Amino acid sequence: MRKKIVAGNWKMNLTLAQGEQLINDILQAGLKLAEGQEVVVATPFPYLAKAKSLLKNYPGYFVAAQNCASEKAGAFTGEVSAEMLQSVGVDYVIIGHSERREYFNETNAILAKKVDLALANGLKPIFCCGEPLAVRQAETQNEYVARQLEESLYHLTAEQLKQVVIAYEPIWAIGTGLTASAGQAQDMHAFIRGQIANKFGREAALHLTILYGGSAKPGNAAELFANPDVDGGLIGGASLVAADFAAIISSL
Ligand code: PEP
Repeated sequence: MRKKIVAGNWKMNLTLAQGEQLINDILQAGLKLAEGQEVVVATPFPYLAKAKSLLKNYPGYFVAAQNCASEKAGAFTGEVSAEMLQSVGVDYVIIGHSERREYFNETNAILAKKVDLALANGLKPIFCCGEPLAVRQAETQNEYVARQLEESLYHLTAEQLKQVVIAYEPIWAIGTGLTASAGQAQDMHAFIRGQIANKFGREAALHLTILYGGSAKPGNAAELFANPDVDGGLIGGASLVAADFAAIISSL
């Protein structure tokens, strides 16, 4: 059985005190996670160690970084390596979020290096893919996403791929209030699983957790998660409000 995950991406929001409060409020919701369900909180770098200490005694709750460096170590001022993240207890790392691709010029080739370093340091990559609006309008989203997967993940072994989670995040739905319909999400998730089956085999594809991201909220999470190939969500805005995030987790 593959894992079901709700991951919250705080982006560049909240102070340490606000983040602590948010985590405590989520824990106080007292949610019962079923076998195979996970909650992941992707905090800004300075809060990761604190977040881990708050969550470490709660089975099923994990911490993610929002990015890692594409180099191992050395003279890269301002960067944070996968090894550093591992050393403070981080479990997952988001790689290739569309904001990183767009504002920080992260290419598929750079992301392939980040995936490798994450895996080499025992971190599970949450690899983001997804098309911009023009591509969706041209109906070439499958080719676009296939290329992202090919150029950043296809050099892995099937064994390595077992550690990877994919998040499909259509860029036109991120932070815009527009959500992919349940049908659009399911179609793309099934396409991604099919591509992975072709490349890595059926077993690897069945094992792969594929999250949906893009304006998911309490009102639409259950419908999105009900799709057979949607294994949870990567949540931006709604992960900053404890009641909303808890409601989304309850929709798993
Ligand atoms: C995201 O940034 O990963 C995201 C899905 O954001 P939002 O939920 O705010 O659209």
